[in-house]
Amino acid sequence: MQRNIGQLTWTEVEALDLAKDGALVLPIGSIEQHGPHLSTDCDLVFADRFLDLALERLDQHTKVWRLPILPISKSNEHVGFAGTWYLSAETLMATLRDIARCAVNNGFRRLVLWNCHGGNRALLEVAARDLRIETGLMTFQVFASGVMPDPLDPLDAREPVYGIHAGEWETSVMLALAPDRVRLDRRNCEFPKFSSETLALELTSATVGWTSRDFQISGTWGDAAAATTERGQQRLTPLIDRLAAILTEIAGFEMGA
Ligand SMILES: [Zn+2]
Repeated sequence: MQRNIGQLTWTEVEALDLAKDGALVLPIGSIEQHGPHLSTDCDLVFADRFLDLALERLDQHTKVWRLPILPISKSNEHVGFAGTWYLSAETLMATLRDIARCAVNNGFRRLVLWNCHGGNRALLEVAARDLRIETGLMTFQVFASGVMPDPLDPLDAREPVYGIHAGEWETSVMLALAPDRVRLDRRNCEFPKFSSETLALELTSATVGWTSRDFQISGTWGDAAAATTERGQQRLTPLIDRLAAILTEIAGFEMGA
C-alpha cells in the first residue's frame, strides 16, 4: 500500500474511502543547530524516518497516509547559531491552517500533527484546538518523547532534565538510525549553567523563556560523548511500535458525544 499521498495520482486520492476511518499525517521537521556533532536536519530525519518505519508496521487495512515533510518550523530558540532556519509562529500557524483546509477538501476527517522538535509543542497544541474548531477536523498532535518515555536509565543524573537537545538520547538514536549524520569525533558534553530552586526551563509550572545562546556555548544539551548505537537501537524499536499503535487508534477514533 502506498502511504505517501504525494506519490498517488489525483484520481487515486479521489478514490480513497475516508467516510468513516482514515487519517492524514503531516510530519513536521526542523532545521536547527544540533551541537557540533549532529547535522542540522536531526529532528527532520527523526520525524521522517520514525514515521515511515511506523507506517511499515501498520496492518494493510489501516487507513493512514502521510504528506511529504514540512521541513522548517518554529526553532527560533536556536537563533544566533549558524545552521538554524525557522518560521515565525504566525507563519507556521497560517501554514498549518492552509494544509488543514486542503485535508478537508481531500475528504479527510482526521489530521495528525507529528513532530519531533520540542520548540513546536506549544504552538501545535494551540493549532490542534484551533483547527478542530475552524475546520471540523479531528486533530491530533503527537510528539516523539511523549510517544515513548526513555526506557533506559540515564547515564548522568542531569540528562533527564537538561539533556534535551543533541545529548545522549538524540545522538544515540541518530547513530542507530542515520550514522552518516553524526560526526563521531566532535561529540561533546555540555550541561547548561542554570541553577534555580524554583524555576525550570520547561514542562513545569514556572519556566524561563530561554534561547540556547542564553546557556550554551557548543549547542549541545547533555552528554553526546556517552552516546552509543546500541542505546539508540534499544530506544528505537519500542518507540516505533508505540507510534504504529497510536496511528492505528487515531485512524478509527471518533469523538465520544
Ligand atoms: Zn533535536
